[in-house]
Amino acid sequence: MRPVVIAHRGASAYLPEHTVPAKVLAYAMGADYLEQDVVASRDDELVVLHDIYLDRVSNVAEAFPDRHRDDGRYYVRDFDLAELLELRVWERFDAEGAPVYPGRYPGRTGNFRLHSLRTELELVRHLNTSTEARTGIYPEIKRPAWHRAQGIDIAPLLLELLEEFDYRNNSDPVYVQCFDANEVVRLRRELGCPLKLVQLIGENEWAESETDYAFLQTDAGLQQIAAVADGIGPRLEHCMRVSGAQVRASGLVERAHKLGLAVHPYTVRADSLPDGFSSHDALVTFCVAELKVDGLFSDFPDETRRQILALEPASRPAAPQ
Ligand code: CA
Repeated sequence: MRPVVIAHRGASAYLPEHTVPAKVLAYAMGADYLEQDVVASRDDELVVLHDIYLDRVSNVAEAFPDRHRDDGRYYVRDFDLAELLELRVWERFDAEGAPVYPGRYPGRTGNFRLHSLRTELELVRHLNTSTEARTGIYPEIKRPAWHRAQGIDIAPLLLELLEEFDYRNNSDPVYVQCFDANEVVRLRRELGCPLKLVQLIGENEWAESETDYAFLQTDAGLQQIAAVADGIGPRLEHCMRVSGAQVRASGLVERAHKLGLAVHPYTVRADSLPDGFSSHDALVTFCVAELKVDGLFSDFPDETRRQILALEPASRPAAPQ
């Protein structure tokens, strides 16, 4: 079974992330899964966007100049879905206003829009019908504790919507992912989520949640994950040790596999390679042949798929079955 290709925020190397065109392109490129980051609007609609903020990827400051909070930032949670749909969105800028990936789609151009999670699930459903494919989805619950403090609980709303779209069983082509380990436990044990769950592993200094990501990478941490989840989504850098031009496995993938966990590292970017690699293909080859990952999050789903198929031409994807 070959590793699956997860289109990270869509074909985000080519079109602004989390827009419908980026998802359609990733679909057409043959990604096995399309990723959705999920945040909540003021009127409790689930919206597909990476950040709880709007200012680095949209014209919100021009369209709604008075609607920022005291920290100067504009929050998705402070806007109704109808207002969010009015915004223009574009390629990501950093805090200084420079493009994060300068070679990508030019920012502040085009007529790209936000969309709801419902819109994206409808898109995938109808494309799967018209093309007779079974492309999967890979929703991430963003900042669940923060959202609860803002008066909304995303997880039950997400599960309800997924069920409405017939994602009901562990074998269905969907992974639900989250950085917050308490939320992953809650999804399985309290909310009775039957779907495949992935524990994302970040860095403690990101302050993404109260989860201790150093602990999660220990055997005890992985055992804790394996009790409730089907896989892990570590950083590529967690899976390897680099010294000069020498790269070797860190052992994380192997230890996770011993516990039955699938491993889907993030993020393959041909225009931003990890230390130790000089090409996209060398990185993917290492991940597939040496690390033996089960999937890869990629901003370049076409390139990543091409290289995986070159390495494992006769092999079927590990999932969807
Ligand atoms: Ca994500």
